[in-house]
Amino acid sequence: MRVLILGGTAEARGLAAALVDLGVPVISTLAGRVQNPRLPAGEVRIGGFGGSKGLAAFLQTDGITHVIDATHPFAQTMTRHGADASDAAGVPFVRYARPGWRARPDSASWTWVRSYDEARTAAQELGSQPFLTTGRQTLPHFLEPWASRSVLVRVVEPLSSTPPTAWRVLLDRGPYSVDGELAVMRQHEVDVLLTKDSGGSYTSAKLDAAASLGVPVVVVGRPEAPAGVLEVPTLHEALSAVVG
Ligand code: NAP
Repeated sequence: MRVLILGGTAEARGLAAALVDLGVPVISTLAGRVQNPRLPAGEVRIGGFGGSKGLAAFLQTDGITHVIDATHPFAQTMTRHGADASDAAGVPFVRYARPGWRARPDSASWTWVRSYDEARTAAQELGSQPFLTTGRQTLPHFLEPWASRSVLVRVVEPLSSTPPTAWRVLLDRGPYSVDGELAVMRQHEVDVLLTKDSGGSYTSAKLDAAASLGVPVVVVGRPEAPAGVLEVPTLHEALSAVVG
């Protein structure tokens, strides 16, 4: 047995630690986008595979017997490549993703949208000082249209180009506290919050802070998993997919 975890999340690190504890050979892979990533237990490989064909070749040459895709719920391309490559290599593939935030009681009051462009349009109707927390890769949807808007943007890694002068950039990564989020949102007089449905507790404090301040929330819904892929929401089920 040799398990490949497509990682980059707290869930992936939790799964790697649990498999290492059980003595199961495991290799985790990271995209290599973050400069000082939190590293999982066990063997780690950093960098892409060169598409699904490259990954299928890796599965075969590295003797992988199981693939668990524990990438971020919005890492849609990696999930698709993982499913295709596992199919081609005849290796079982499971998607392990934390549940989204739809089950929260306050989620009914949020504006749910399907794209970052829709999120921008919806947020413009709701406020003028947005708190943008959808991630660095989504910024092309906002930079130009919101160049003169007073935007507070939070990212894990520094931006690759200079942001508009009206923008304020916070460099930080979770987990966040409600008190900390309240302070940030008050200090920057945020009047609308933009997020995506990442789920989990690392970044959910902003939702509690927004509820407490009466700040409206715009949420981009999750991409769908590829057809036919088994999805599990818990560590226990992800482990069961490997060790039964
Ligand atoms: P993506 O758009 O789905 O993937 C783009 C390409 O990056 C993939 O085709 C693959 O390159 C490479 N890649 C992605 N995840 C990889 C992994 N775990 N191991 C090796 N290569 C990987 O992915 P993304 O949304 O940019 O996310 C990149 C990483 O950041 C993932 O590990 C994800 O879990 C983590 N992350 C993403 C977000 C988010 O909001 N998207 C948030 C937190 C953490 P090749 O085609 O060359 O194999």
